[in-house]
Amino acid sequence: MSMQRIGSTIQLDHGSGGRATHELVQELFAAAFNNKFLLEMNDSALVEVEGGQLAMTTDSYVVDPIVFPGGNIGSLAVHGTVNDICMRGARPLYLTAGFILEEGLALKTLCEIVAGMAEAARKAKVLIVAGDTKVVPKGKADKIFINTAGIGIVPPGIKVGGHNARPGDAVLINGTIGDHGMAIMCKREGLAFENEIRSDSSSLNELVEAMLKSCPHINVLRDPTRGGVATALNEIAQQSKVGIHLEEDALPIRDDVAGACEILGLDPLYVANEGKVLVCLPAQAVEGVLQAMRHHPLGRASCKIGEVVADEAGRVMMKTRIGGLRLVDMLRGEQLPRIC
Ligand code: MG
Repeated sequence: MSMQRIGSTIQLDHGSGGRATHELVQELFAAAFNNKFLLEMNDSALVEVEGGQLAMTTDSYVVDPIVFPGGNIGSLAVHGTVNDICMRGARPLYLTAGFILEEGLALKTLCEIVAGMAEAARKAKVLIVAGDTKVVPKGKADKIFINTAGIGIVPPGIKVGGHNARPGDAVLINGTIGDHGMAIMCKREGLAFENEIRSDSSSLNELVEAMLKSCPHINVLRDPTRGGVATALNEIAQQSKVGIHLEEDALPIRDDVAGACEILGLDPLYVANEGKVLVCLPAQAVEGVLQAMRHHPLGRASCKIGEVVADEAGRVMMKTRIGGLRLVDMLRGEQLPRIC
């Protein structure tokens, strides 16, 4: 196993969701666990069972602060897991939840988190069917970490995956970018704006279902979480061996999010989202799918942000406001630790 790129110790950067995470996953985990399901590197793995296909995923949540505008670590855990399942076009059904609690955590806080989780699960129509609880001594964890697993069913005829983008596809998104990351950062840094920036954390399964109903031939769905839109599009470009052209002018960004990014020296293209989906689909289906998206509360601000091209395979380029073309790389370096 060659692990020269990783270095001799784990750094925060290895958890960024960007380039260093990809190197660690590919060179250590994927090499060791080596199988075709894992190597697809999609939001969830599709496994064959008698009579159909199941989507399976797992995720861990270490967000700091554990309660933030628009949610808490519990609701986020449900949303993130549900979303990774529905990014394969699957219908999420069952979740599990493992809790790692620090000695001294206020029971009131834990109750609030669990209530947020229960409410998120009820709204997404999933059941949390198994769980685990561990407590570690004070100082050995930070309040609460949550690990989940999720399982769902892929309806017959649906083939959605990061490797399916085709030249000529349009790239859509269901609303503004960077809201989750900036809600967390503003709370953490004590930055206040006229209107509080709220996380977009939400379950996308109902929206995705409406989109697939409008067009069952959607090629790619991906939730741009850690590493943001830039990193997610780079993953798609590499998996599908295509180029992606973004239009800077078309990127929906709230003014306060743009302002907060500027103050903190961040690029919204690299900031995490928890209720957004990137979509690649044939150009002729765009109008119908946009209409279906805008009809849903989580898709009101849906728009086209770019297209898939045949040249420059594996790269994402952005047409800038001043008419230039610049490379949009995968996230390098840990920008925002413990964002989800
Ligand atoms: Mg994902």
